Amino acid sequence: MQASEKRAWVEIDLGALQRNAAAIAHRARAPLLPMIKADAYGLGALPVARVLEPLEPWGYGVATILEGLELRAAGITRPVIVFTPLSLEELSDVRAAGLTPSLSRTESISRWAAEGGGPWHLSIDTGMNRAGVQWDEVDELRDAIAHCPPEGAYTHFHSAELNDGSIDRQEVRFQEALARLPERPSILHAENSAAVARRDGSGWGCVRPGIFLYGVGSGDGAQLNPEPVVYIRARVIDLRRVRDGETVSYDATYRAVGDRTIATLGVGYADGYPRALSNRGCAMLGGRRVPVAGVVTMDMTMVDVTDAPCALGDVATVIGSDAGLDVAAVAWTAGMSPYELLTGLRGRISRVYRSDGVRT
Ligand SMILES: *Cc1c(COP(=O)(O)O)cnc(C)c1O
Repeated sequence: MQASEKRAWVEIDLGALQRNAAAIAHRARAPLLPMIKADAYGLGALPVARVLEPLEPWGYGVATILEGLELRAAGITRPVIVFTPLSLEELSDVRAAGLTPSLSRTESISRWAAEGGGPWHLSIDTGMNRAGVQWDEVDELRDAIAHCPPEGAYTHFHSAELNDGSIDRQEVRFQEALARLPERPSILHAENSAAVARRDGSGWGCVRPGIFLYGVGSGDGAQLNPEPVVYIRARVIDLRRVRDGETVSYDATYRAVGDRTIATLGVGYADGYPRALSNRGCAMLGGRRVPVAGVVTMDMTMVDVTDAPCALGDVATVIGSDAGLDVAAVAWTAGMSPYELLTGLRGRISRVYRSDGVRT
C-alpha cells in the first residue's frame, strides 16, 4: 500500500535518527549501547538497528527476551543485553537466544554459571530503587561474582534530565560499589540520553541513549539537541458543515458557535493518538493550525477547519516539528511523557521509513 492510500501513518526519518546517534557518540567520545527496547520506542527495532549498524555500536539494549530474539532472528550479531530482571527459568532461554543477561542476585549468577557461564552484566542500583543490587550490598555477591565475573557493570540515573546533582551522588555510589568487586569489569556504563547530552565526554566505557536517537531532547540543561525523527500524518476522510449549536463527537463536549466546518481525520486513540488531546490538541492542515473538536475517538479525530482550506484526502500533521507540533510538546499537552506517547503508537498505524541521507 502506498502512503497515498493510507488513513494515517508514522513517518520515521532514519537519516536524522542515524545523525542523532552519531552526534551523541561524538559528544560522549564513547561507543554506543543504543536502547532499542519496546520496539525502539515504537519506531521499529529492526529498521532502527539496521541504520545504527554502520556506526558500529558496542551492542544493543532491550527489555525482554522476545525483543532480543527478534534482533537475533534478523541476523544482528552484536551483544544484546536484556535490561530487566529475569527469573531463573528464563536464563536458559537467554542463553539459547545468545543474549546477555543483566543479573544482580546470587541465585541467578550461580545458575548462569552452572549452566555454562558466559557474558553477563551486573546491575547496580544507586538510587532508582527499581532493579539491581543495592550499591552498598554488592559484598553479598562477592563469592558468586568471583566464581563467574561479569563482563560489564552498570547503573541507571533516576533524574538525569533534572539539574539536581543526583547524577553525581549516584556516580559516587556506583564507584563505591565497583571498588568492592573482586575485579573491575571490562565495560562500565551508566549514561542515558539526558546524562550524555549534559556532559562533555562519557565518564564510563559506553553510553546507553534511547529517546535522543528518536528525536526527543532532554530540555533545558541539554547542550546537545537531536534532529526530529517522528512525524504523524493523518488524512481527511470526511468533511461536513456543522450548524450553530450542533455538537461534535461522543458526550457532546464540543458545541459549534456559529456555523463551523469540521474535518474528520483517520487517526484515533487505537492508533496511539492520545484521547487526552480531546478538545486540547491541534493539527496542521493547509499551513494552518486547526484545533481538535470534541473527543478523540478510537479510529477518528475531528478538527475544526473553518479557517483552513481543506478538502477530502488532504493530509494533516498531528505530530511533527515541521508543523510546530514536536513529540514532547504534544505529549505534555496530553499530560503524558514523550516516552509514553512514542511507545503508545500501535501496530495498526503503519510506519513509513524515510532513508534519505542514511549512511550505509
Ligand atoms: C530506557 C533505558 C535507557 C535509555 O534512556 P533514555 O532516557 O531513553 O535515553 C538507558 N538505560 C536503561 C537501563 C534503560 O532502561
